[in-house]
Amino acid sequence: MGVAKQLYQLQEFDLKIESNEQSLKQVTSQLGESKAVVRVQKQLQLEQQRLEELRHKQHSAEWEIDDLVTKVAVAEETLFSGRIKNPKELTNLQHEVEALKAKRDQLEEKALEIIDQVEQSEASVARISSELETLKAEWQHQQQQLSDEVEQLKATLSDLRQKWQLLSAEIEPPTVEFYQELRKGKGTAVAKVEQGICRGCRISLPTTELQRARSGSLVQCSSCGRILFLA
Ligand SMILES: [Zn+2]
Repeated sequence: MGVAKQLYQLQEFDLKIESNEQSLKQVTSQLGESKAVVRVQKQLQLEQQRLEELRHKQHSAEWEIDDLVTKVAVAEETLFSGRIKNPKELTNLQHEVEALKAKRDQLEEKALEIIDQVEQSEASVARISSELETLKAEWQHQQQQLSDEVEQLKATLSDLRQKWQLLSAEIEPPTVEFYQELRKGKGTAVAKVEQGICRGCRISLPTTELQRARSGSLVQCSSCGRILFLA
């Protein structure tokens, strides 16, 4: 095998290695925490907190109502017991019972509103929890796929690097160094020649250059400086 062909194959390995390294970087950057999961987790936490506060408000209102119900019962018992004879005292007590009842009714209405809010909040918590479960499952699935992809890419890269080593060992070290220097500057160091044209710069090559390249010696394009490879 001519050295130009060997260098061309070495370049093929290098290009594949580069592209796989790029993919590996891209896939690796997708591994880790999910922004969507974190956002919904926070949302759930806030709603759960709100629900707890509402339940607390509901219980406070219920205790207050119980207290008023007891007070009304005691006052009414006194009112209808016949123990109080004084008409003014009776009227006062009657007013007191009415005021307590009005307050109780008002609180009962408020308690109903709170219960309604509690129910709405419970529904929200259930909805967000289910959304979070779905997101987490999707995320885990995706992470698993990405991890598999990372493993695959690492294996491919290791295989390519091994092939690169084996091939480069067959070439004179100064030639490999020359190739690497050229690649650093131009991206591609070896250009295919097709129909007398250098594919690196698309310039028609002089016949003498083509003949020298065909003979197997290392020839650089007189225009772009790339190593010429006649397939
Ligand atoms: Zn060229």
